[in-house]
Amino acid sequence: MTKRVVLIGHPVAHSLSGAMQQAAFDHLGIGATYEQWDRTTLQLADAVAEIRDDAFLGANITIPHKERVVPLIDRSTEDALATGAINTLTREGRRLVGHNTDVPGFAAALDRLVGRQKMPRQAVVLGAGGGARAVVFGLIRQGFQRVIVFNRHLHRAEGLVRFFGRSAAHMELKAMPWHDSIIESELTKTRVLVNATSIGLVSDESPVPAGILPGDLLVLDLIYNRTRFLHDAEAAGSMVLDGETMLLHQGAAAFSLWTGQPAPLDVMAAALADARAQGLRSAEGEPAGDEPAPAAEAEPAPAAEAEPTPASEEAATTTAG
Ligand code: NDP
Repeated sequence: MTKRVVLIGHPVAHSLSGAMQQAAFDHLGIGATYEQWDRTTLQLADAVAEIRDDAFLGANITIPHKERVVPLIDRSTEDALATGAINTLTREGRRLVGHNTDVPGFAAALDRLVGRQKMPRQAVVLGAGGGARAVVFGLIRQGFQRVIVFNRHLHRAEGLVRFFGRSAAHMELKAMPWHDSIIESELTKTRVLVNATSIGLVSDESPVPAGILPGDLLVLDLIYNRTRFLHDAEAAGSMVLDGETMLLHQGAAAFSLWTGQPAPLDVMAAALADARAQGLRSAEGEPAGDEPAPAAEAEPAPAAEAEPTPASEEAATTTAG
């Protein structure tokens, strides 16, 4: 019987994940289809309950449900507990297990961006949503000593810092108010800059003015496209990477969880490139506009054990959108 995997979000139309996962299933001869379910918050519990059935291998969860799904499942893995967000579900019989594969996805992107250089210890993160949680957790686990989080709504950045309180006790993790002058000052003290806001996803805007970007940073944008932010950073002389590496590796990790098989990375990367060449851009991450943001506050996460991240052979790179 053909198995089903679903992406649950709102909105989810035109997802790049579908192209990438279906290509992987087809390549390995796995009888499975990847479907997209547009479900509002009110419909989320019913959608999650449906996945408990044998017909499903599991699911991806995307905006705006990554945090709301936590109480609807039976068990969370360490990455999901540590970030308070779930982007992948697997089944154990009728029980559902929540994972956060954005965490290994970000680790792969950071490895690629840093390449053979020494891993830096200071980072500035723009944004405090679900993506930023995976980023900050990845930086803590990677041994960063100073991470500054800027967010439009400061309380959400403060909530994120409180959330990681215990696992970040050995280092400096701070929330700061979003002012260009404060960001500019912090950028002079950092090596890594990550855009984890959705600014630039649907418009040609950048989260920061080009003039405040120093020329010697390693810059990652979680957005899958060649954004103005990356363009400006590269023009200033920084090494840049877009969100495709993270997207690919979070998808590969999810694929392996559903199927128990290594993901065909080349096939998935080619499917992503094809989908992008056809003008498809993921709608995951686009705010639905009619739902309130999830609560910013959460209890402190349990201290997470550091796990080694596989070193990438690839050098830091500039990607074209
Ligand atoms: P969330 O909705 O959880 O968070 C959105 C973030 O963007 C918040 O920090 C929000 O600030 C900020 N933001 C949105 N609009 C504005 C604005 N006009 N001005 C200032 N800040 C703004 O989304 P996610 O964290 O899940 O996703 C963020 C981005 O990362 C998306 O573009 C998504 O596509 C991408 N992403 C990519 C992944 C990958 O695999 N490459 C994985 C996960 C995410 P505030 O809290 O103040 O509203």
